[in-house]
Amino acid sequence: MDRPTPHEPPLAEYALRYAKEGIESRVLTRKPLFLTVFVTARCGLSCGHCFYRDELLAGNVKDELTLDEYDRMTRRLPRFPKLIITGGEPFLRTDLVEIAEKFYENQSQARQITIPTAGAHTDRIVDLAERLLGPRPDLILELQLSIDGVGDKHDQIRGKGSFEKLMRTHDALRPLQDRNHGLRIRFNYTFSRQTQDHFEETWRFVRDELKNPHFDMVLVRRKTIDEAYWGEVDVEKYRKASALLQQMELEKAGEDRFRRALAQRVRVEREIIAEHSQGRRKMTGCMAGTLTAIIGETGELRPCEVLDESFGNLRAVDFDFDALWRSGEAERFRRWVKETGCFCTFETCVRTTMSFQPRWYGSMAAGFAKDLLRGG
Ligand code: SF4
Ligand code: SF4
Repeated sequence: MDRPTPHEPPLAEYALRYAKEGIESRVLTRKPLFLTVFVTARCGLSCGHCFYRDELLAGNVKDELTLDEYDRMTRRLPRFPKLIITGGEPFLRTDLVEIAEKFYENQSQARQITIPTAGAHTDRIVDLAERLLGPRPDLILELQLSIDGVGDKHDQIRGKGSFEKLMRTHDALRPLQDRNHGLRIRFNYTFSRQTQDHFEETWRFVRDELKNPHFDMVLVRRKTIDEAYWGEVDVEKYRKASALLQQMELEKAGEDRFRRALAQRVRVEREIIAEHSQGRRKMTGCMAGTLTAIIGETGELRPCEVLDESFGNLRAVDFDFDALWRSGEAERFRRWVKETGCFCTFETCVRTTMSFQPRWYGSMAAGFAKDLLRGG
């Protein structure tokens, strides 16, 4: 059955706002732009590629920040244009809607919220989308549904019956996306040695059968505890998958030149990640701990998801974010990143860093020019 093409959020407006705040941050305010908040270290699944496995094993519900603590935290946070609320499985928190509301209503003023999920809790997910979006027309909510293949291939990683639940959630959300400008359902694929051979099949399933134009992927991280899922992925397969991602962005952009230019970012970003995955440094000046920040489920403020570094615990400073963000420990970390030229494949940081390094605009412009010559 054909479905109508979903509405698109005002990407140009948000991209310009993000760029403006990024420049202000670098020149004046020194505040981060992109916050990732882990709200729980609990999860009913045990995916072999999970980079959060150590935390899941140690996770204790009694240590998690309470709603009252999120209230106090968001009253003292700077404004974050982009927020990810993640876990574990974030929908295991029964107060997830209220937590998200705190980030929207209080000083943090989040207007673009992304929530990744394995998609098993259909009713809670639909309820959250309706309650968050209903009274907030300026909110963009992205629900990221993890997909590792079609049917049994997904279940082999996520457990029997997981694919069916995922589809149930997609189908329940879909009418909301079709009529609500602010909701985006994005499938997210973890590219690993176990999944690299069925990327295209999954991409085609989402694009052609579900007719959902939002698809992304993350490269499996070394922090996984299951070595069978790691090892070297085939970088050529990763590049081929990246080309399909870009193709989808171009298809969505249609005749819109601005969005066709933005789609070039996908190619440049994925090429940096492909090189980094092979141990070849292509980008320095990572802005983790400068433009991006992580808050763990117990209040630990960290610069990035890859290293076991911490700027301290927000509980210990009565949620005074600035006290930790501007501390000597934070400055030491930033100097260390600069001096070592630290590099990795962590998508959020590669994406954020390249957005504020003009050297990448040349590669994007070259790709855009080729696209124009091809008649795009
Ligand atoms: S669903 Fe996510 S958090 Fe849970 S085990 Fe899988 S990858 Fe880890
Ligand atoms: S390059 Fe990667 S590991 Fe290093 S600071 Fe940035 S995000 Fe962290």
